Parts: sequence; C-alpha cells; structure tokens
Amino acid sequence: MATNRSGIAPKPADVTTHWIQAVTAGSNELVAIVRPNGQILHISDNGVAERFTGYSLSDACALRAEQIIHADDLAAMRAAFGGVAAAPGSHQTMSLRLIHRLGNEVRFDAYAANHMNDGVVEALVVRLSLGAERPKRTMFPEPQADVSDRAQLLAGIGAAIVRHGNDPTQVFSVFLLEVDRMTMLVGNYGQQVVDKLLAEVVQRLAGLLRPADMVAQIGSGEFGMLIHDTGKASEASAITDRIQETVSERYRIDGHTMTISAIIGIATSEREYADGEQVLRDAAVAASRARRQRRKRNVVFQTQMRVEDKRYMSLVDQLQNAVQQREFCLHYQPIIELDGRKLCGFEALVRWDHPSEGLVSPGEFIPVAEETGLIVALGQFVLEEACKQMAEWNRRYAASNPLSISVNLSPMQFAEEDLWSHIEHALRNSELDARQLNLEITESAVLENHDAAVLVLEKLKARGVRVSLDDFGTGYSSFSHLYQLPYDTLKIDRSFVARIGADGENIEIIHAIIALAHHLGLRVVAEGVETEFQATHLDKLGCEYAQGYYFARPLDARGAEALLSS
Ligand code: C2E
Ligand code: MG
Ligand code: MG
Repeated sequence: MATNRSGIAPKPADVTTHWIQAVTAGSNELVAIVRPNGQILHISDNGVAERFTGYSLSDACALRAEQIIHADDLAAMRAAFGGVAAAPGSHQTMSLRLIHRLGNEVRFDAYAANHMNDGVVEALVVRLSLGAERPKRTMFPEPQADVSDRAQLLAGIGAAIVRHGNDPTQVFSVFLLEVDRMTMLVGNYGQQVVDKLLAEVVQRLAGLLRPADMVAQIGSGEFGMLIHDTGKASEASAITDRIQETVSERYRIDGHTMTISAIIGIATSEREYADGEQVLRDAAVAASRARRQRRKRNVVFQTQMRVEDKRYMSLVDQLQNAVQQREFCLHYQPIIELDGRKLCGFEALVRWDHPSEGLVSPGEFIPVAEETGLIVALGQFVLEEACKQMAEWNRRYAASNPLSISVNLSPMQFAEEDLWSHIEHALRNSELDARQLNLEITESAVLENHDAAVLVLEKLKARGVRVSLDDFGTGYSSFSHLYQLPYDTLKIDRSFVARIGADGENIEIIHAIIALAHHLGLRVVAEGVETEFQATHLDKLGCEYAQGYYFARPLDARGAEALLSS
C-alpha cells in the first residue's frame, strides 16, 4: 500500500470515494484502492488510518513502506502483494506489523484482492483491520476469573492505546493497586495465607470488570487494572472508590479474619502514550505519591509528578549513598527535670551532613528513609552512635549521676526482626547501662504491629531499657494503648504545649493528659517548651520533664559537651 505519490487522488464528488466512505464509516477497518504499482487511488476517510498510525491521513499516505511497516514483515508483504497484483481474481491475507508514529508496533490483519478485471474497481483492494491479538489470559490458583500477568497487561494497554489513542470520548484508565504492609501481613499470617488472601483480592477485582477490561497481578500485593470508558480523571475517582470499598471488605481465610488497605495510582489515556510501559509507569508514580501522602489513598497522575518523581528518585539515590558513606551526625537536645531545672539527659536527633547542602533536617529525609527501608541501617547507626556518645559522656562528666539518652525508633525499625540484636549490640559495644537508654516510639509504630509490639516492649522492659511514647496527642491517641502497653514515659506533643496561652488558657487538656499518665504510673515529658511561662505552668501541673528551645536547641556534640562540662 506504500506509495511515493504526494497526495490522495480522488477528485471531488468521486463516486468511489463516496462509496468507500459510506461503506467504511463507523467501522474499524481501513480500506484502500491501490494500483498494482502501489499508487493509492482512494482510501477510507473514516479516522481509522489516523488512529492506527498516529499520522494524519495525507502524511500516512506519503510514507514509504519502510517507514511504516515492521522491517521483519517487509519482504513477506511485498511478496504477497506482488503475487496478488500479478494474478487477477486472486487474494491473500497476512498478518502485518505497523510502526505507530510514537514507536510502538501494532499488529494488523491485512487482506489484498486483485479486482483488475472486474470491470468496476479495476485495481487492488487492500483492507487492514486490527489484529485479533487479544492478550491471552492465564488462570490463577482457583480458576474463577481470568487474571493476567504484567506482560499481558502491557499488551492490553498497548492495544487500548492503538484503538482509542487519547480520544476524549473513549478514555480508558489504568489503576495500580498496592496492598499496604505486605511484609507485616506475611510476618503475621505466613506466606500461604497471604497468597490465598491475594488470590481473593484479585477475584474481587475481577468481579468489578466488564469483558474488555483486565486485571493483572504484577507483583507481590501489586495489581494492575485496565478499565475502558472510565471518562475523565475526575470521573475515574468514582471507580477508585468502588475498588477501595471492594478491597477493604473483610476477608476470612483459613480461620483468620482480616482486613487490608491499599493505595491506588491512576493514569488515564487523556495523555498521549506510546505504550503500556509508559502508562503503568505514570500510574506507579501516582501510587508512590499516594504512599507518601499518608492521608490520600488514591492519586491520579499529573505530568508535574514526573518531575517531582525524578527529584524524589535522586533523593533516594543520594540517601542510599549517604547511608553507605555515613554522612550523618547526631545533635543532642537537653531534657530538663523541671523540679530544680536539672539536666537529666538528651534526645539524639539525626542530621544529614549533605556534601553540598549542609545539614538537612530529619523531616526531609526520614520519611524517604522509611519508605525505602534505609531507615533500618540509618537507625542502627543512630543507636550505636548515641549509646557510644552517652556512655563516654557519663564516664567523663556524670559518673555519679548518669544521664540518659533518648533514641527515636521508626515504625519500620520497630517491626524489624533484628531490632533486639541491634539494641543488644549497641549496649554491649558502648557499655552503656541499659537503664540509661530510652527508646522513643510513636503510636503508629504500635498500631501497625500491636501484638508484636507488646512482646518487644516487654522484652525491653525486662532488659531494663526504657520506652517513651513520643508525640502523644498527634496520632490516634488511643487511651486503651496506654493501658495495655508498658511505657515508662509519655511525651506530650509540642502542639499542645504551644497552645498554652499567656493567661493559661488551653491548659485543661494537658492537665488531663498528665493526670492520666500519672494514674498509669508514667512520667511525663513536655516537648517544645519555648517560654518560661509554659515551663512554670507545666511544673505546677506536675509534669516532670521538659524539652524545648527555651532550655536549649538541639546541640552538636561539641555544644552538648560544653554544656556538660559547665
Ligand atoms: P521528635 O522525636 O518529636 O523530636 C523533637 C523535634 O522537635 C526535633 O525536631 C526538635 O528539634 C524539635 N524541637 C525541640 N524543641 C522545640 C521547640 O521548642 N520548638 C519547636 N518548634 N521545635 C522543637 P527535629 O530534630 O527536626 O526532628 C524531627 C523528627 O524527626 C523527630 O521528632 C523524630 O520524629 C524524627 N527523628 C529525628 N531523629 C531521628 C532518628 O534518629 N530516627 C528516627 N526514626 N526519627 C528521627
Ligand atoms: Mg522523639
Ligand atoms: Mg516528639
């Protein structure tokens, strides 16, 4: 069908053109009337050529065969069409790959028939229709619904791109669903149960689909869905809600009752895509955004995110390197006993000593370290370093009345199997008395892992290590946890302290928290104390300890040492 002619021949009001148009309108077929020498006489102007090739009709017709036909199919195509052209009345069908303007290959069924001697057409008729390459579907353990794999999903998305491009009336969407806390699920229930759980997830997802849609399991706890006719991104969110509802309904598996949650990244065909990889990649970018924005479970991809994702990936890269190169140091914020205003310890706060940007605060990199798992290695470094430093300071400055060191543990560290051996190692290595080590955990660390948390806390307690509940008042603040778990100290978040007004207003909540903590035998640290007024009030309410800029900002090791020696 290729031609080197420079336009399409039909004269206005050409009957054949009308004919072809009438017959092919609304169809998915491209029909061309071609001279035996390859010159195109007429071509169906039904939008199919544009969709199949990505070129305008006239541009498509001006292309040479080598530019549009897959190199491996060229010779076969020429032989077949040459044979048809040489034998009036004959016809041939073959499978052919075209190269779309955006680079992906698309398979077509081609039909060529010789009508040279029929007295009407007197030319060759060539028809192209989209190849019947529906992705094969494989069966999942219990063969109930069809579940595809990654390659099949990509092929399905590729075919959808070819069929609908970014046609605004035929928007399709790809949903990438990631089940939360897979490692924890496997840890709690075992791989076999989790496999059954995931099989049920996929069955439920399949239940939401219409025949042309697909669901694929593309990783552990990771599913991709191709859904047609979702409408614009804003409309796709209704479908997302439906998916979330379906996935979060209760599961009963092998005697366990469980619920799971998931995040979803969405990419719609409103953007121009060349292949399935690109769509899936954008859905993954959106999913990682959802993972970072803890409160948002569904995120629709926006082009802007690509840039941010690059920045994020580069941060991950640098952080990985930083952990290897140990580009971190600790700052130490004094913790003061309010009665008598005595120094009683420090909280170790990590800083990234970035080669070009200087000190980076933990708020910027701890979340990334948590998402990537780097927090485990980083946390181990902090633990070792903090214990070593405190043991040394106690030997030099506070032998008779040793000070304690508080170290923050992130939820992921807390769930780590090796946590216990890391703590043991840090204590033995530094010769710090276990009673001088205080681990700070947040409620989310406990909530994510309740049963395991109880065991870890009891073990720590038996070893003499103390445990504080950090940032109390910011998360779920479930009082029942306070009853159930053996904390030593409760740290009131600085947002409560900041609300203590000049005339003592808003003090009731803090009062109630302190009273409750004391009732449970816990001691209280107030975080973020910035004024004498706050310090006096907290002291009056019976709060034992305080920490905040009023007493001291976090100090580097030399600053802390200067304080100790004075
Ligand atoms: P956090 O454990 O609640 O630490 C207290 C944070 O409050 C510190 O911020 C400290 O500098 C800040 N702060 C202390 N006093 C005041 C005050 O009077 N006013 C105000 N506005 N802020 C005050 P920083 O050092 O930026 O640390 C932020 C968070 O990063 C920490 O909150 C902790 O959750 C996390 N973090 C720090 N170091 C580590 C670490 O080694 N491991 C882990 N997992 N997390 C860490
Ligand atoms: Mg803390
Ligand atoms: Mg805190």
